[in-house]
Amino acid sequence: MHSLSLAKFREWSFWSLVFPSRCVYCAKEMPASNILFCDRCWAELPRAEKTPTEKLPRYVDRVHAGFAYREGGITREIVHALKFDGHTSLVPKMADFLIRTIPAGYLNSDDVWTPVPLHWLRFGDRSFNQSLLLCRELTNRTGGEIVPLLKRTRNTPAQSGQGFRTRAQNVKDAFRYSHKGEAPKSVLLIDDVVTTGATVSECARILKASGVEQVRVLAFARAVS
Ligand SMILES: [Zn+2]
Repeated sequence: MHSLSLAKFREWSFWSLVFPSRCVYCAKEMPASNILFCDRCWAELPRAEKTPTEKLPRYVDRVHAGFAYREGGITREIVHALKFDGHTSLVPKMADFLIRTIPAGYLNSDDVWTPVPLHWLRFGDRSFNQSLLLCRELTNRTGGEIVPLLKRTRNTPAQSGQGFRTRAQNVKDAFRYSHKGEAPKSVLLIDDVVTTGATVSECARILKASGVEQVRVLAFARAVS
C-alpha cells in the first residue's frame, strides 16, 4: 500500500462491505474482492494491434504493448488508477493480462529486464515507480532478471497531453546509464504505457551509447489514435 493511504483504504474496505461493489468503469455490480474494475472489463481490454505503417521509436528494435490506450478507454482508466491514484494492487493483474499477449519468441533467456525510471513529475504523494512494479510482477512470472540500468537525472515536466517534439525535448538527457560492469547485450525495457515513444527512445539511445546491442520495449499499453 503506497500512495493510497491506509485510512482511505480502510474506508473503502468498510463501505465495500456495506454496499455492493461496482466497477468504476462500467458501473456494474461486482464481487467485493475485485479491485476497481470488474472481470468483464478486464476481459474486454482492447488489444494494441500493430499497423503496417507503424514506426518504431528511434533506437528501439522492437515494441510489444499489450493493450490499446485511448481517451475514455478501459486501458487508460487502469493505467491512471495505478499511476495517479496509487492502486498498486492492480499490478499483478496487469502483468497476468500483459503476459498472455506477448508473442512467441519475443522474450529471450539472456534478456536483462530494466524499468523506465520514474520520469514524470510525481503526482500527489506518489512514491513508487509503476514501471518497476510491473517489471517485478512480470519477472516473477517469467523468471527474468531485473537489472536497473538507468537512473533519472532530473525531474521532467508532466507529459500528459504534450506532443512528441515537446516530450522529446523534455526527456532529453533526463536519464543516465547507472550500471557498473559490462553492458548486457539484450535489454527488455519495461514501461506502463508508450505514448509518443519519446521516453523509450531516449532510454534506448542511452542504453545503446553504453554498449547495449538490442533494446526491445515491453509495455502494458500503447497510445492509439
Ligand atoms: Zn466493468
